[in-house]
This record gives sequence, C-alpha cells and structure tokens, in this order.
Amino acid sequence: MKILVLNAGSSSQKSCLYEIQPHTDLSTPLEPLWEASIDWTVSDEYGLLKVFANGQKRKIDLPLDNKRDGILIMLETITHGHTKVLSSLDDIDIIGHRIVHGGRSYSRSCIITPEVEQTIKDLIPLAPNHHPAHLEGIKAIALTLPQTPQVAVFDTAFHSSIPPKAKIYPLPYQWYERGIQRYGFHGISHGYVSQRAAQILGKPMEDLKIISCHLGNGSSVTAIKNGHSIDTSMGFTPLEGLMMGTRCGSIDPAILLHLMDEYGYDYGQLNQLLNKESGLLGVSQISADVRSIISAIANGNHQAQLALDIFTHRVTSVIGSMIPGLGGLDVLIFTAGIGENSPLIREQVCSQFSFLNLKLDREKNQGKCLDRNIANPDSSVAIITIKTQEDWAIALQTLPFCPKES
Ligand code: AMP
Repeated sequence: MKILVLNAGSSSQKSCLYEIQPHTDLSTPLEPLWEASIDWTVSDEYGLLKVFANGQKRKIDLPLDNKRDGILIMLETITHGHTKVLSSLDDIDIIGHRIVHGGRSYSRSCIITPEVEQTIKDLIPLAPNHHPAHLEGIKAIALTLPQTPQVAVFDTAFHSSIPPKAKIYPLPYQWYERGIQRYGFHGISHGYVSQRAAQILGKPMEDLKIISCHLGNGSSVTAIKNGHSIDTSMGFTPLEGLMMGTRCGSIDPAILLHLMDEYGYDYGQLNQLLNKESGLLGVSQISADVRSIISAIANGNHQAQLALDIFTHRVTSVIGSMIPGLGGLDVLIFTAGIGENSPLIREQVCSQFSFLNLKLDREKNQGKCLDRNIANPDSSVAIITIKTQEDWAIALQTLPFCPKES
C-alpha cells in the first residue's frame, strides 16, 4: 500500500511517500520511499524544490506565481529522473493531508468530500496562512489523481477532548457561541509523541499522566490524561501560550489596547509585532533560533541570556500550571527542534521540578537520547525525548481509509 503525505505550511510544502506492506510493523516509523520539500521563501524570483529518493538528491527551481504547478512538478519527481520510485502516480493508493484547523466540525480524520473541502475554505479566516496552501494541495491531487481518495488529518482534532472549563475564554458567552474558543495546535505531534512515549515505557497510554512539550519555532505544551488532551497552551490561534521564535505567546491583552490608543497601532502593525518581531527574536535582538542565542550567550551577550531565561521560565510555568489538572505527572516529553536538540533547555526546565522528585540523568541528556527515557532510574517522572514524526503520524491516520485496508 502506498500512502502519499502532503504537509503544507505557510511558506513551505513537505511531502513523503510511504510503502506499507500487510505485515509491516507500524510501531516504529518507516523511512519514506521518497521525500520532497518546497521552500517558497528562498528568493523573490523562485521557490526551491528539494527531493530525496533512491539515495539521490535533486534540486529544482520553481516558479512562484503558481504554487499548484509547483506541487505538480514535485509529484513528477516520483515517476521521473533519479528519484523515480513509482512507474505511475496511479500506484498511490491514498493521500493524507495535514490540515491545520478543523474548527469545531472535525474531531477526527476523514475522507475529503466536497463538504469537507468547503469547511476548509470556510475556516480560512482562522488559518489564513495555511488553509489556502492546503486547498492548493488538494486541488493539485484532484487534477492528477481524480479517483484516489484524499484524507484530511486535522492538527486541532487531538484537542477536541479539552473540557469546557479549559477551552472557553472568560469573555461574554456569545463569543464562544460564535466560535471563539481554545482550539489548540500541534495536535498531530502531541498525539504521536504521547503514544510513542507510552510504547517506549511499555505502559498503556490510558494509565499515564503526560505533559508533552513541542518546542520548535512554534511551541506548545499539552496535558494528556487517559490518552486524551485535557489542556493545551495554544488557543484560538497558534499565537497564545509559550514564547516562540518570533511569536510573543501570552501577553496582557491590554498591551494591545495601549499600543492602539497611545501609539496608533493598526491591525497590520500589531500582527507584524506579535507574530514576526517578538519572542526569542524580539527579546534577544539577535535571532529566533536557539542555536544562535546559545552561541551569543557563550560570547557574553546578556540580551540573549534574557531571551533564553524568559523562554525556559514560560515553559516551566505552563508545565507547572497543568500538573494539578492531571492530578500528578508520570511522563514529561520533549519534542520538535528545540525539545529534541537542546540538552541545555531540557536541563533548565527539568531542574525546576526537582520538588516532584523529577530527576534528569545528565549523561543520558547529553548523549544520543532520541526516543529514550533520559530520567534517572529513581526519578518519579519519566523524561522522554521523542523525535516528532508528523508525516508518519499522518500516514498512520490515513491508513484506515485506504480502500485496500477495508
Ligand atoms: P522546528 O520548528 O521543530 O523545526 O524547530 C526549529 C528550531 O529548533 C530552530 O529554530 C532552533 O531554535 C531549534 N533547534 C534546532 N536544532 C537545534 C540545536 N541543535 N540546539 C538547539 N536548538 C535547536
């Protein structure tokens, strides 16, 4: 069975092709047969497609004016040239799409029907940077493979179990009725890593109280009890919660009123400030990238130190705020670019929870630690660093819809 995964971001398009045999062990992620990524931001004149398959790499410049054509060129590399892995695209059995926002309508993955496509369109105001890109991908596939089923895997779906007390904002209730609520994001990642953590520990997920820290350019923390998300730090949009690369995370909303009232800030200026100029970049005034911040700290840069201190303080505060709702903590997970790669941040966060008898093994934390428990044997809480595998998780959620599967 061949599953194509399309994972469209605001300025990128990642894609991979998995081959799953009837007896394939699905408990660990497979290597894709073919992988591709498009970066639409490398230049003002073209986008850059990178493809990897058969041990071969290809790079192709793409026109910027028609993203759908770019996706079609990307798909062509599956059947042509050094990266050819299939003789025809018709060999693909099903396509899974990551869809950022399912609104209130979708609490699980589903086949993309015209109604689902319409809902994705209707939700553009809630995901203006992502949903148009998702729709381009769906259209490109419908043109190329009109008979092949397409599945929507929603990033918000995992959080549909969050109870009203955690998802409703303390605004006049009419605003909740109009759709303003906590939706949460990174759900595909939080869902995957929590299952993987349970698997690594050899325990049913339903028995575990888990906090999952997805720390990347965008960051969020989720509390998972009995296998379900019960709270998460991102909210109505992915701007709420932790400090991020360029996003501010939670701030006093009256700051916005003040900027409007005293400084005449309009929508565009506020959007730019909160989403693009804040976070690690805004405070450090150096970079949104933790690697650059850490090297600046090594050179004595105080502003970089302050940015890192705020980042870890906020991660720690949010984790702490979720422990009572879980009624304790069995597992702390670190994932995504920072969570997987920064022993320093893991150590700084974990050191704040020694009062819970949470003990990080320093040696394991420094070494090759992906998909491993890096806690001391006598720690009351398991600490697991997991490589997030969103594309594999999308493939797993797409698999049950495959005609050959049913
Ligand atoms: P993601 O959004 O998950 O791809 O994460 C990207 C972010 O991970 C980068 O912007 C960096 O801040 C961070 N990152 C990647 N590699 C490292 C590393 N070796 N050490 C610290 N942070 C890293």
